Amino acid sequence: MESKQEQLNILNEKMLQCSKCALRKDCQQVVPGEGSAEAEIMFIGEGPGKKEDELGRPFVGAAGKFLAEMLGLINLKRESVYPHTKNNNVNTSNKITTSNQEKVNFGVGVYIANVVKCRPPENRDPLPEEVQACWPWLLEQIKIIQPKLIVTLGKHSMERFFSNQKISEVHGKALRKDFPEIGKQVFLSLYHPAAALYNGSMREILIKDFKRIPKVLEKIKEEKRFIDSSISL
Ligand code: URA
Repeated sequence: MESKQEQLNILNEKMLQCSKCALRKDCQQVVPGEGSAEAEIMFIGEGPGKKEDELGRPFVGAAGKFLAEMLGLINLKRESVYPHTKNNNVNTSNKITTSNQEKVNFGVGVYIANVVKCRPPENRDPLPEEVQACWPWLLEQIKIIQPKLIVTLGKHSMERFFSNQKISEVHGKALRKDFPEIGKQVFLSLYHPAAALYNGSMREILIKDFKRIPKVLEKIKEEKRFIDSSISL
């Protein structure tokens, strides 16, 4: 059985070949996502922007800088490694060995991906058929990583999982939902960092919601411990 990282590498190779929707022909490259294959927290944004399209990495522009700052507020690090490139070796203890042998400790570990893996032209919202075409890739990523918590960034990412909800009502709340493909999963929906960058009140709300992440994660783990122990009674 391949490790999670090996499974992700295989998946990423397939994603890089994808041309299932029209977005691929207008973008420079596919942006699969990056981070620890053992991540407990998976962040899901909307889609690559200009900078992401240039570099092949998610959240590397202004919104990404803000995301990295917020990760710092809860003592998490977003490291600059490229696990989807072939040169990297990953062992299972969350230590990623980059090609220059630098050791990076992910601690709790995060993975960052998007609903669509190719940049929509002029940063327009992805069309429903584009989101639909990319959905199986995202499901595969979630199935491999099995994060304890999925944090959706922005309205479009939240709506992908909760089509009847409004971001203004569910932001900052932990919601659980059962999906046939990925099973029971806990989500925390947040405003998008790009939307909050230049909007003072939204920024405050986003930071406040973001700071709930450690508590929500701890609760999920506590619950799991309780459920695990009750099996043996
Ligand atoms: N916004 C997103 O939703 N994703 C990115 O990768 C960058 C900006």
